[in-house]
Amino acid sequence: MVDLKAQYAKIKTEIDKGIQEVIQNAAFIRGAQVAAFQKNLEKYLGVKHVIPVGNGTDALQIALMALELKPGDEVITPTFTFIATAEVVALLGLTPVFVDVDPDTFCISPEAVKKAITPKTKAIVPVHLFGQNAHMEALLQLAKEHKLYIIEDACQSIGSDYIFSNGEKAKSGTIGDIGCTSFFPSKNLGCYGDGGAIFTNNTELAQKMQAIGNHGMTQRYHHDIIGVNSRLDSIQAAVLDVKLKHLDEYNAARQQVAKAYNKAFAACSTLQTPVESPFSTHVYHQYTLKLNGIDRAKLQKYLADNEIPSMIYYPIPLHLQAAYQNPRYRAGDFPVAEMLSSCVLSLPIHTEMDDEQLKYIIDAVKVAVFK
Ligand SMILES: *Cc1c(COP(=O)(O)O)cnc(C)c1O
Repeated sequence: MVDLKAQYAKIKTEIDKGIQEVIQNAAFIRGAQVAAFQKNLEKYLGVKHVIPVGNGTDALQIALMALELKPGDEVITPTFTFIATAEVVALLGLTPVFVDVDPDTFCISPEAVKKAITPKTKAIVPVHLFGQNAHMEALLQLAKEHKLYIIEDACQSIGSDYIFSNGEKAKSGTIGDIGCTSFFPSKNLGCYGDGGAIFTNNTELAQKMQAIGNHGMTQRYHHDIIGVNSRLDSIQAAVLDVKLKHLDEYNAARQQVAKAYNKAFAACSTLQTPVESPFSTHVYHQYTLKLNGIDRAKLQKYLADNEIPSMIYYPIPLHLQAAYQNPRYRAGDFPVAEMLSSCVLSLPIHTEMDDEQLKYIIDAVKVAVFK
């Protein structure tokens, strides 16, 4: 689905130099590279505070911990997402409240959020799925009316722009109270191991989250709040600082691939290409088709037989996952998410795809679809 080896080959000199510096200085934790990357990411995003952490799941957990919610408080998340979004809510003794998504953008539906708000609701966690932002303006309005926090799950959308109705733009993850991202290797800004970060313009929350990620420590061996151990290490920061300089160019390369796929599949009535919303740019973490009346398993098998990977993100919505069974949810409750789970298919998309590879994939998909 991605080609991280070919990507590395192009930036090898810079990356190797960065990693070597970390080893020479032996400051593996909290080294200068972490501080440098933090500053550069703050600048890139136009946000006051970036807090580097161990991974995207920790970023979400630390963000929720900083809000000091009580057991039983409700947090609204989409049911069509990666499990981490709801996992951290459940782990903290809070109640994940699932809602349906928009059939075109696959992101949380503001109308569904509105219906799910109760006196116990404390936060909304929209996920900017596959690289496109959820409808933040509608969510901000709801949050204001009901005094709710918004934690953006921007693990798949780093670098994309949210476009407000007045034309102003803001980077994904910098719009709500807190934004979270992941630097998992295959993400749009990926490191060579685990990594993540939290974004916020709220200095008080930033200080609290910084402390929570470091054992709740504000002064050495003084623990004012209960924390966790979640740090971005210096080697990963060195890698990320190099790759951040290429992020816009990487996202543009993904957009080019998406454009070629869109053009090639426009005439196939059995393939619904991704819908780009008017309020967000799309950085195509995934290129996800909706199949219309064709057998997904057969198409996947044909592609696999031709050595083309494809993936189903996500085959089971969260309300139907075994670990999240709850008498409050049944199959049929969230028809859009359930429909998507049965018909989506993601094709390879990455920064190193050349015309030949693209043509090979497109031709194979077309042969399979028209067979
Ligand atoms: C990747 C991802 C996460 C978790 O990130 P990790 O770094 O793997 O912990 C959370 N939410 C979404 C939507 C993701 O895609």
